[in-house]
Amino acid sequence: MGLIVQKYGGSSVADADGLKRVAARIVATKKAGNQVVVVVSAMGDTTDELIDLANQVTPLPNGRELDMLLTAGERISMALLAMAISNLGHEARSFTGSQAGVLTTSAHGKARIIDVKPSRITEAINEGAIAIVAGFQGINQDTKDVTTLGRGGSDTTAVALAAALEADVCEIYTDVDGVYSADPRAVPSARKLKTVTYEEMLELAASGAKVLHLRCVEYARRYDLPIHVRSSFSNQEGTWVVKDHPEGASDMEQAIIAGIAHDKSEAKVTIVGVPDRTGVAARIFQTIADADINIDMIVQNVSAAATGLTDISFTLPKAEGAEATQILNDIKGEIGFQSLQYDDQIGKLSLVGAGMRSHPGVTATFFACLSEAGINIEMISTSEIRISIICRVEDLEKGVKAAHSAFELDVDGEAVVYGGTGR
Ligand code: ADP
Ligand code: ASP
Ligand code: MG
Repeated sequence: MGLIVQKYGGSSVADADGLKRVAARIVATKKAGNQVVVVVSAMGDTTDELIDLANQVTPLPNGRELDMLLTAGERISMALLAMAISNLGHEARSFTGSQAGVLTTSAHGKARIIDVKPSRITEAINEGAIAIVAGFQGINQDTKDVTTLGRGGSDTTAVALAAALEADVCEIYTDVDGVYSADPRAVPSARKLKTVTYEEMLELAASGAKVLHLRCVEYARRYDLPIHVRSSFSNQEGTWVVKDHPEGASDMEQAIIAGIAHDKSEAKVTIVGVPDRTGVAARIFQTIADADINIDMIVQNVSAAATGLTDISFTLPKAEGAEATQILNDIKGEIGFQSLQYDDQIGKLSLVGAGMRSHPGVTATFFACLSEAGINIEMISTSEIRISIICRVEDLEKGVKAAHSAFELDVDGEAVVYGGTGR
């Protein structure tokens, strides 16, 4: 008998029919002789709708209350899913994140899982029931408050539970057949990857490929837990996220570029006329860090000889743009910079692939294809297995397609997108 953790995303349980379809799949897994723990997301676009609602009440919702509101989405789906399973004649028990023992830091909206103590889940499955757990939520033991793990966090709940329960596999069910060489919504000719390494998937997830939540991949790598990403709408074998590509994988699977990710969720802040003195950059970025704001790319220009002033640009999540500009303006006098510019019309395009290490010329090919597509590069950052650029947001999808062809990743036929609104 195996222990399987399955996670179903919002588009898989978008309505009553979806819940019933998923319930049947879960029951089939149970009937095949497995113990089954299910993590479920909020139905369809519920989380977005709840956020919209909060923003209609106040421009800056309080973190604690927003988390309280958002966790309600997963409560609805977990209870309905348990009912649908019970209607098929099998016992199912639903649990909130806190009941399932998901303990987190106190950072509302972006809490990290510290520990998972799933005794109630173990008890339920040992008694023959199917356990249904609300994704994306936990509890902080000091404040006793309910927290959320950030958008897409149900993937992380699933992997963390799978690790704590020592499950045989964690299956992530979504609205596409696996991890593709690019978002199939942007590139219909994208190819499905048989395997992708933790390392590559981490870079893809960090660069905006929202098919998996970044922390879920970090978790899986730490515990060496294989993840199977597949569709809840088909029976096709999906993509395995694993430590290494299997021996004998075809050339295509060891392509130089595993995938191309794009991200529209970042904004760029430019601090104009910064005195080029030791300690200034440290002061600026410490202020940002103190507000718990994560920054991504940074560019500092050479200072103009005549003035000794320079410009510093960095990117950050749009959602934190207002707060960042406010706290920077608060230290304007102290630092002595001239002005701040805020630009939320940027897009980030990233090429990811372990093969880059041993293949020179990837950057040259990438930049040449962007130039042919008439796309101007505004910022660049690299890691050992990734190259990212910032461009205008309206050029982004054109850039993804151009890079996808330049690296010969296109396949015949269209990748199927079964559901979801792409929101
Ligand atoms: P769920 O609701 O199941 O969690 P998400 O919307 O979070 O689903 O993630 C699935 C979506 O991720 C797909 O519909 C697809 O548009 C997007 N996506 C982005 N990059 C990729 C990629 N490289 N491969 C597959 N899907 C991707
Ligand atoms: N419902 C949450 C969201 O939409 C968590 C998740 O689906 O993973 O972000
Ligand atoms: Mg998701």
